Amino acid sequence: MDLLSVIIVAGGTGKRMGRPIPKQFLMLGNRPILMHTMQRFYKAFADLKMRIILVLNKDYEQYWQELVRQYSFPVPHITTFGGEQRFHSVKNGLSMAFDQGLVAVHDSVRPLITTTFLRSVYEQAKQKGNAVPCVLPHSSVRIEEKGRNWSIDRSTVRLIQTPQIFDIQDLRKAYSQEYRTNFTDDATVFESLGKQINLVQGLEENIKITRPMDLFVAEKLIKEIDQ
Ligand code: C5P
Repeated sequence: MDLLSVIIVAGGTGKRMGRPIPKQFLMLGNRPILMHTMQRFYKAFADLKMRIILVLNKDYEQYWQELVRQYSFPVPHITTFGGEQRFHSVKNGLSMAFDQGLVAVHDSVRPLITTTFLRSVYEQAKQKGNAVPCVLPHSSVRIEEKGRNWSIDRSTVRLIQTPQIFDIQDLRKAYSQEYRTNFTDDATVFESLGKQINLVQGLEENIKITRPMDLFVAEKLIKEIDQ
């Protein structure tokens, strides 16, 4: 049977949202954002041998356990603690993954994912060894540097999403490197070993809830996509 480890990174404190609790715990419809995210993976991969690893900030472990009780949260998972940067949080999650198969790393604050989308990224990772979803920008794009700015052809730009799926052995090797500030996602870590990233079709609705406006949009979208 195929093995899939799913690392949900929820170790951040979400300062940009300007709320007293991290954004992954804010309500979306009738339950916290993080619960939507985990339930969507659980549903999409019910036929696989899956291990869901939730990476939490140490200060919120107790809080999470209370939410699990309060909502009788049905998704089996194990937890570990986050680190200083997302990189360190993923690395902690990787240490608890299956030693074989694929690993999907997903931002806790991207709950608007459908079964069709998740299966598509997974199948392509299975075929090619990795899969990283992306969408095209709708605005014109400029680079601004050292007091100057210039336009670039937006048809060559890709906006990157999660889940990013890799062979577990490859990703563990990539994460055995020292942290660098340009490691903002798993693809950057993976590619720094000289490996090629396989870009696949992302999902427009798969927004990262970062600012209050994103939560407003997510409230509308969550009613539209499959439950
Ligand atoms: O801060 P940013 O929006 O880039 O975070 C993306 C995801 O990574 C979020 O789900 C956040 O909780 C997680 N994260 C983490 N550990 C950190 C920083 C961010 O797990 N130290």
